[in-house]
Amino acid sequence: MASSQGLQQTISLKLLIDKENNRVVMAEADSDFVDIVFSFLTMPMGTIVRLISKQPHPAIIGSLTSLYDCVESLEEQLLHTKACKSMLLHPRNPCENECKKLKLNIDDTEPTKYYICSDWNCSRRESGGLYTTFMNVRCNCGKMLDKQICMVKEDAGARAEGGDGRGVFVCGTIKFMVTDELQVKTMSPATIVTLLHKLGFKDMSSLQETTLSIGSEEILNLLKGSLFSKTPLTDVFLRKQGFTYEGIKFETEDAVQSKTSGSTSFK
Ligand SMILES: [Zn+2]
Repeated sequence: MASSQGLQQTISLKLLIDKENNRVVMAEADSDFVDIVFSFLTMPMGTIVRLISKQPHPAIIGSLTSLYDCVESLEEQLLHTKACKSMLLHPRNPCENECKKLKLNIDDTEPTKYYICSDWNCSRRESGGLYTTFMNVRCNCGKMLDKQICMVKEDAGARAEGGDGRGVFVCGTIKFMVTDELQVKTMSPATIVTLLHKLGFKDMSSLQETTLSIGSEEILNLLKGSLFSKTPLTDVFLRKQGFTYEGIKFETEDAVQSKTSGSTSFK
């Protein structure tokens, strides 16, 4: 969730910029930044839609934003239980415990709480103890599962035991190279030279190094950029793109061509 520390916290990111073409060549990042970018992959779709659509500079994600809005305004009588709306609009991240350790966590989903039957005798009778992570779920006995309990967290010391420093998804002691299209590699002279060669650099005089301090807003923009752009670092940090729906171009032809060669032809 976007905790109070998360709102204030910043991390630094070193960028190698191609001044002539106004583009980011690569970022030199430590595990803090790489872990944050990797955490995008753990987010449920409902969370991504909420984060992208409910911000001061919202973007529409295809039809998913409309789908999300539709569930938001759905009458409760149409839902199986009251909790279903919460499950769809505020889904839990399966890696919630890991993501809590990120230096900047833009996921504003409330931390998971656990509820058991309001009837103590009933919750003791149920084998294994019936519980839910959403309020307003009905117990087998007919009463509501609305008594909040504390669960012991097993992960508190787990990472320290691993001995890999501060990292969440990646080892905390390694320097990484992140390309403009978010390819992540270990930082070494060889990987840098290979990248510069791939990008066609002959004259290094247009290269400039700059260090940025980035916060939650930039990470949120980067999430947007990762959805709508193949050059998110350039778009977010140099061109300050808004990633509006109108600005997106879909490569329909390529997609159709690749489909027609397979078994799922549109024809
Ligand atoms: Zn019960």
